[in-house]
Amino acid sequence: MSAPTLDALVSLCKRRGFIFPGSEIYGGLANTWDYGPLGIELKNRVQHEWWKRFVSQRRDMVGLESGILMNPKVWEASGHVSNFGDPLVDCKKCKQRFRGDKLLEEKIGVEGAAVLTLEQVQPMLLAEKIKCPSCGGLDWAIAKKFNLMFRTQQGVIEGEGADIYLRPETAQGMFVNFRNVQQSMRKRLPFGIAQTGTVFRNEITPGNFTFRTREFQQMEIEYFVAPGTEGPIFEQWKDDMWQWCLDIGLAPERLRIREHTKEELSHYSSRTIDIEYQYPWGWGELYGLANRSDFDLSQHQKCSGQEMTYTDPDDPMKKFLPYVIEPTFGLTRTVLAILLEAYEDEKLKEDDTRTVLHLKPIVAPYDLAILPLSKKEHLIAKAEELYKKIVQSSGLHIDFDITGRIGKRYRLQDEI
Ligand code: ATP
Repeated sequence: MSAPTLDALVSLCKRRGFIFPGSEIYGGLANTWDYGPLGIELKNRVQHEWWKRFVSQRRDMVGLESGILMNPKVWEASGHVSNFGDPLVDCKKCKQRFRGDKLLEEKIGVEGAAVLTLEQVQPMLLAEKIKCPSCGGLDWAIAKKFNLMFRTQQGVIEGEGADIYLRPETAQGMFVNFRNVQQSMRKRLPFGIAQTGTVFRNEITPGNFTFRTREFQQMEIEYFVAPGTEGPIFEQWKDDMWQWCLDIGLAPERLRIREHTKEELSHYSSRTIDIEYQYPWGWGELYGLANRSDFDLSQHQKCSGQEMTYTDPDDPMKKFLPYVIEPTFGLTRTVLAILLEAYEDEKLKEDDTRTVLHLKPIVAPYDLAILPLSKKEHLIAKAEELYKKIVQSSGLHIDFDITGRIGKRYRLQDEI
């Protein structure tokens, strides 16, 4: 099955109620998307399936829902205020702005682009003759660091002290609540906290449909372990993440694992791998798995003055900061990968093609459809009775469609 074009998928998503352009009647707001009736069912299913697999069905996992707004000191401690940025380059000719490292990825590879210092970006763009994607010019300004945190103000008084950030990841909510969760749930190491939710990043170059947006959803796990035990646990999470990808229907030939080089590692990480998917425009990150060591807990301990240690229940004298393995999954990016993988324009006859979404039952918006063949009142009533019976007894998601020719209704079902 050949990969669909992104345009074909975007069009299906709008036509069939999966994903609509945001604020469309006002001319839209670039790179914002709204999940329609089928999109939200699919997204909810992915999220529920994930929660079931990684939280409800595991004794070593518990859930959390922390706030989007947090004390700004959290983001100073985590390093986001000083480190969470991308190299921004201005095209001096057309004044458009781009992410310098992304422009270079095709020429020098993802690893090569990720390790460039800020000073190296502009000379490299010129040396590699990377033209402005907007105007075709070759006139780049010196790169600047651009912080991706969304800043806003809380309360009625503007100015100093009212500045606050929208969270760029769900992870920090789990770190600051580590002791609350561990003590209230009497958890022993190793154990994990999971949370799903919306995050915000002021991306320089959002795009490729829902692949890179400024508001998106994540499903993250912080898995706390005793220092020295993280090696095999990291490997186990790698296998579990890979298996999840297969179970939601992604083809192994369009998946690969990429180990981050030492130079590429984020400020908090001692080892990171990405699970990448082959999107229509090339390989790109789908998920990440990082060994964050005790970086976050030790930073929060230092900056808040509060103890963040774990006490060994078998030896109360033994107190230490756990290490953390972090499997992180983009929820909205998962939905995109699932849709790309499932999409097929199937040629039936010379002049007849039908669009089919080969969705795995665990993520499909509907489990079954009831399509009465006749519009006779007593038959519709029977069909409705059947609908109610199945919905109430099984909890299955059922589409009920009585409009149009039956052949057309079958085709419409193929598309979803
Ligand atoms: P990228 O290299 O693509 O910018 P990242 O390394 O910054 O991603 P993480 O910080 O590891 O991403 O975020 C965890 C997950 O969140 C990613 O694996 C991805 O699935 C998702 N994600 C990150 N940024 C975006 C975005 N702008 N839009 C949609 N999903 C995103």
